Amino acid sequence: MKVETFLNVPVDVVTYDDIISQVPMYIEENRQMRITSVNPQIIVDINKYPEVLRYIQEATFRIPDGIGIVKASQMRKGKINARLTGIELMEKLLMVANETHEKVFFYGAQQEVIAKAKENVQKKYPNLEIVGAVDGYTKMSEAELVRMINYSEAKFLFVGLGFPLQEQWLQRNYNELNANIIEDVGGSFDVLSGCVKRAPKIYQQLNLEWLYRSLSRRGRLNRLVQIPVFLWRIRREKIK
Ligand code: UDP
Repeated sequence: MKVETFLNVPVDVVTYDDIISQVPMYIEENRQMRITSVNPQIIVDINKYPEVLRYIQEATFRIPDGIGIVKASQMRKGKINARLTGIELMEKLLMVANETHEKVFFYGAQQEVIAKAKENVQKKYPNLEIVGAVDGYTKMSEAELVRMINYSEAKFLFVGLGFPLQEQWLQRNYNELNANIIEDVGGSFDVLSGCVKRAPKIYQQLNLEWLYRSLSRRGRLNRLVQIPVFLWRIRREKIK
């Protein structure tokens, strides 16, 4: 698999199929697949979080979750030509879990959100078993939560605490976790719960989902600024 590096952060040249096709093997061989999303914001901020960089470096798959990454790759005549989103990959993984009647565990988001997400996912994928859904503000200790996840025998674990909390949590705990397929999913539980809608199709088709999300949610506008900052830094990195 080819890897491209942006300001020290590796991103894989990878498709959904590359990842999904390896899931059965990882489960059968009881190995751990860690999938993480990389976007321009993470790259721009990575120096503040060396433990997140380590998590990304050691992950099985680093998906290009942002049109900014695709543009940066194009600027360098790289091979990343499509964005893979964390939530789309999560849906595909849930489909696999549904087909094979696997156990899945959710961790993250507000209590009502995760409960609603669980309900919706269970309805949509009736054959998978959601063996745990813990909100991202739980008072449980990390050790207790890890024990609970392992005790549940979940094969799929989705962690949605947002950047950098989810990567930090996983970096501290992945060694102790028995789940085979682990994905950090940002705000995906909010979307699955119906509390936050994905951008209308037209925005998705025009690669402007980021714009819609930035304009429709508080505190997001600063992310808009990060894309040009990111591209400018990539250009400088190239010249150096
Ligand atoms: N969150 C959480 N615990 C925390 C902080 C955040 O579970 O201590 C959740 C929050 O409720 C939301 C998600 O993390 O569901 C962050 O979503 P956001 O859209 O900001 O993340 P992104 O997708 O941009 O990484």
